[in-house]
Amino acid sequence: MEQLRKQLDELYPDIVSWRRHLHRNPELSFHEEKTAEFVADKLEQWGIEVRRQVGGHGLVGTLRGGMPGRTVALRADMDALPIQDEKTCEYKSQVPGVMHACGHDAHTATLLGVAKALSDARERLPGTYVFLFQHAEEMNPGGAKSMIEAGALEGIDACYGVHLWTPFPSGHVYCRPGPMMAAPDEFTLEIIGKGGHGGLPHQTVDSIVVGAELVSSLQTVVARSIDPTEPCVVSVGSFHAGSSFNVIAETCTMKGTVRSFDPTVRLEAKRRIELLLEHTCAKYGATYKIDYRLGYPPVVNDPDEVERCFRVAAAAFGADAVHESPLIMAGEDFSYFIEKVPGCFMFVGAGSEEHGIRHPHHHPRFDIDERAMRTAAGLLLELAVDAAGQAPVASIS
Ligand SMILES: [Zn+2]
Ligand SMILES: [Zn+2]
Repeated sequence: MEQLRKQLDELYPDIVSWRRHLHRNPELSFHEEKTAEFVADKLEQWGIEVRRQVGGHGLVGTLRGGMPGRTVALRADMDALPIQDEKTCEYKSQVPGVMHACGHDAHTATLLGVAKALSDARERLPGTYVFLFQHAEEMNPGGAKSMIEAGALEGIDACYGVHLWTPFPSGHVYCRPGPMMAAPDEFTLEIIGKGGHGGLPHQTVDSIVVGAELVSSLQTVVARSIDPTEPCVVSVGSFHAGSSFNVIAETCTMKGTVRSFDPTVRLEAKRRIELLLEHTCAKYGATYKIDYRLGYPPVVNDPDEVERCFRVAAAAFGADAVHESPLIMAGEDFSYFIEKVPGCFMFVGAGSEEHGIRHPHHHPRFDIDERAMRTAAGLLLELAVDAAGQAPVASIS
């Protein structure tokens, strides 16, 4: 392990240069052609077997160690966001309106570093290592599901993934047994009333009045219908109706998001929203349309694998650098992988006040403390070797 750690230290400048190359050349979800090619070329140069176009632009790299053991998958996402890069550094995005504002460039570079270090040591390694480079994390339906349908998890005994996270201090590791990230669902609805003259409201059905009452009623979904010990959020993020001061608006459209962890809570929130919409419209004689989309499942970590994460991370970085993660209301399609095989998702802090790295994910000036990639690479590599070399833990057998 000492030798692998030294190898990662030596690879660190390469990891930074790969990350900066990807940062300059971001590609949107479902368009990661060049990114996938960049990754596949490197893996093949290092003698790693590559399967391309797995469920889209996804890639699966396989490396067989020289000793028997289990098969462990490590995942990185590759896509960028439709955001204009407002940074001024030399590695800022060269593509107008597209930016790696979530750190997926760094995830890809980190996993490349891990793959290189493991491939150099393959003769001495137990088990098999599968590198999942996933397309389209940022956009529903995501890339994870289609990669799994295309066989990406066949023969896998355990699966791990990391998200660099600027709200947490650089170099610190966070994980949590059970649910950790929310299921992000969304709805778009339209209230259809009857337009008319602003001075003759009795001849109309005012969609703004119906819509306004609905927005207020939706606040009772979490406050009055969901178990208060279960986290849930209902937010209306968009409300559009009308165009003039003296015209009653015929229609009103709204978009919103619902975040939850528990499947019962998730379905209860959906049921209450639909019921409130139906009854509020009925009260005033309006009709409606609703498109309610269930997004990714929540990220639910296997407790035994989280224990492995805490043990391995404490040995590598010291117990002071390892923490239980709070619940995070953002979603992640890594959840699909660990619905199928035991594993866990982890955060590695990538923020640094001292270096001015404090912007949240999806911000136009988002950046990371690059040293966090060394921590993330060490975490993934050491977890993978630990899991590949060990007898199955109780929950797997
Ligand atoms: Zn993101
Ligand atoms: Zn992300």
